[in-house]
Amino acid sequence: MPPSDRRTPLRRIARAIAMLLALGVAAGAVLLLHAHIQIRGIDPDLPSLEAVRAQADLGELPIRVSTWNTASQVTPRKQVLEASLDPDPQAPYVMSHAVFLLEWADGRALLVDAGMDREQAQSFGRPIEWVGGAPIVPHGGIAERLGSALAGRPLAIAFTHLHSDHVGGVVSLCGALPGGTRIRVFQTPAQTDLVNFTTYPGRAALDRAGCLVRERLPDVSLAALPGYPGAFVIRAAGHTPGSQMVGAWVRESSGVRGFLFAGDAANAIDGVRRDVPKPRAYRFFVVPESEHRQTRMRGFLREAEQAGIVVALAHDERHLATTGIPVFGD
Ligand SMILES: [Zn+2]
Repeated sequence: MPPSDRRTPLRRIARAIAMLLALGVAAGAVLLLHAHIQIRGIDPDLPSLEAVRAQADLGELPIRVSTWNTASQVTPRKQVLEASLDPDPQAPYVMSHAVFLLEWADGRALLVDAGMDREQAQSFGRPIEWVGGAPIVPHGGIAERLGSALAGRPLAIAFTHLHSDHVGGVVSLCGALPGGTRIRVFQTPAQTDLVNFTTYPGRAALDRAGCLVRERLPDVSLAALPGYPGAFVIRAAGHTPGSQMVGAWVRESSGVRGFLFAGDAANAIDGVRRDVPKPRAYRFFVVPESEHRQTRMRGFLREAEQAGIVVALAHDERHLATTGIPVFGD
């Protein structure tokens, strides 16, 4: 048998592997391209700050806001801000995975995001370790920490977006609440209808959760949340096609204070305050973003902050500690 014939089976296997790899790369490129084209095409109007302020006059406002951080991870700042544009690249950064809870005097409760359970946090934190992060420290999911306080109360959730680190905890929350509990989920039409490869798993988690009743909000720049006066959702996009900002006016003992829960519009508050985008590789390969839209959103959030509204991001632990939002249960 000539030598070339002896190599044939090996060659066939090598060729098959190469073809599979090429197919995988091509499929990945198609998904990535689709996500980029989709997200870049979404740039609807943002509301005026007057429209945001008007939500404070709509009825009995919530009387309390609190936060629960489901996990913390010391992370290199260059993983969340474009290093070449960061005026303070040496500043420390801790990635939080915070949820927020708004409570009305009659017991109604509205969650913003659901964070992650302990195990979900462990697997989410691993790839961040590969790029220089410290091991993630889970603090307990919402079922574990908030479940007993929420049982038996009218409850709703608004997700800033459907990434698994914002959605994960809802599955065990449904399991922890008394049988027959229904949680209303307020979604913009974009969050209901538009998905990409980064939001499939989060949307599947919503389908699995078993106690959620989705409510489609009108397709407007700012929609009040029915039954939850003072709380509203703003069409965001930018980070995912269905990203939404959640806002609320809260009647605190010192007066009425406005909050915007901006999800991942930026991962560090300096992104907003100093107009620094996320790292290029992140917004191209990891989560396809519309930088044009994100720039607009950062501008909107800067204006809101300058007008005295508290901007709360999901992932900036050190900033969250300065907002005066108390930790749930403290
Ligand atoms: Zn996130």
